[in-house]
Amino acid sequence: MNFFAYQNGRLFAEDVAVHDIAQRHGTPTYVYSRAALEHRWRDLDSAFGSHPHTICYAVKANSNLAVLNVLARLGSGFDIVSQGELHRVLQAGGDPSKVVFSGVAKSEAELRYALEKGVRSINIESLAELDRVQDVASQLGVRAAIAFRVNPDVDPQTHPYISTGLEENKFGVRMDAAFEAYQRAASLPNIEVHGIACHIGSQITKTSPFSDALERVLDLVERLADNGIALQQLDLGGGLGIDYQGETPPTAQEYVGAMLNGIKARGISLPIAIEPGRYIAGNAGILLTRVEYLKQNASKQFAIVDAGMNDLLRPSLYQAYHDIINASNHSEPSQVLDVVGPVCESADVLGYERTLAVKAGDLLAVQSAGAYGFVMANNYNTRRRPAEVMVDGNVAHLVRERETLQQLTAGESILD
Ligand SMILES: *Cc1c(COP(=O)(O)O)cnc(C)c1O
Repeated sequence: MNFFAYQNGRLFAEDVAVHDIAQRHGTPTYVYSRAALEHRWRDLDSAFGSHPHTICYAVKANSNLAVLNVLARLGSGFDIVSQGELHRVLQAGGDPSKVVFSGVAKSEAELRYALEKGVRSINIESLAELDRVQDVASQLGVRAAIAFRVNPDVDPQTHPYISTGLEENKFGVRMDAAFEAYQRAASLPNIEVHGIACHIGSQITKTSPFSDALERVLDLVERLADNGIALQQLDLGGGLGIDYQGETPPTAQEYVGAMLNGIKARGISLPIAIEPGRYIAGNAGILLTRVEYLKQNASKQFAIVDAGMNDLLRPSLYQAYHDIINASNHSEPSQVLDVVGPVCESADVLGYERTLAVKAGDLLAVQSAGAYGFVMANNYNTRRRPAEVMVDGNVAHLVRERETLQQLTAGESILD
């Protein structure tokens, strides 16, 4: 289903012409579709059938309160990586008992906040962190439910879709150290061993890396059970990919089906949690931007637009591809040009060598910008971060105002 489609040559978000949004709220502006978010969430939810499960949406993908609230209303859980994200989840009406807390460097203050709010699980990434959780829980006089995030070391050579091999080294507890870690956790007075977690990467477009990781996790689950440590939740992380440029990732059915088959084959029936971010939000948003100028250099044509790398960082940060389309489907001859932003960096390119029929003043839509878009926006070049709009049927709600000039310098001061 496509929630961003042309009607009579003009691009619509659900039942609202994106031109109307640009007219009312200016550009650059992120536009999200409520129906698209809900559709993706429900796809995953229904794929589990009657198997007990929690979908813990990865807040870092898109943490706008309206996005979190729409998912909370469906009964979603949340995967957070900071105190700030938990604050957002609570503000948006999320249920803390469905929250899992991931991240490699949780501070004491963050752990205290999470335990006070009653999150379901702290996903621990090292023995030092285990000791810190024990200390904080003991100070508060509570028992902390924990999981270890294990690193199943799925070989990125055999699965080139996992492209974060080196980076991954900082994440999780090594598989061969995890058994002892669980034994130690089980011996601590303020720790309740609750589950096991793993997250192997992002934008994964095959089921095999997930299945391979699951097998390794289940080996450990069985060994723990044999030694009297019975877990209550299998948290299989996020990472399911989306279509940016013709990729064909597994469907929700295929992805969830592979996991359910994996556990059934071993006679295991533990509740499953998953932490999808990109899959839910990625295709549910676009970035609207206006063409300021067309420009020709000796060898290149440029469309200079009013959105830059500070608004959407992914192309500059990871050479990520986002399709770019003209919001008016007009019939002028198309040309090959680089779509570039206003920021004073040569890396400020939203798309290289795109074929577009375009003139100055046109409205463009950068596709699949709902995940890791606004959340990575920053103020480089003292640019105001974009507005965010959520469309619900034929109504466009402004869910975050464009930053003001006053906000840009709020909190700064000069010397006396
Ligand atoms: C980023 C992250 C996710 C979400 O990843 P997606 O690829 O957006 O699904 C889930 N879990 C953890 C621990 C993460 O760091």
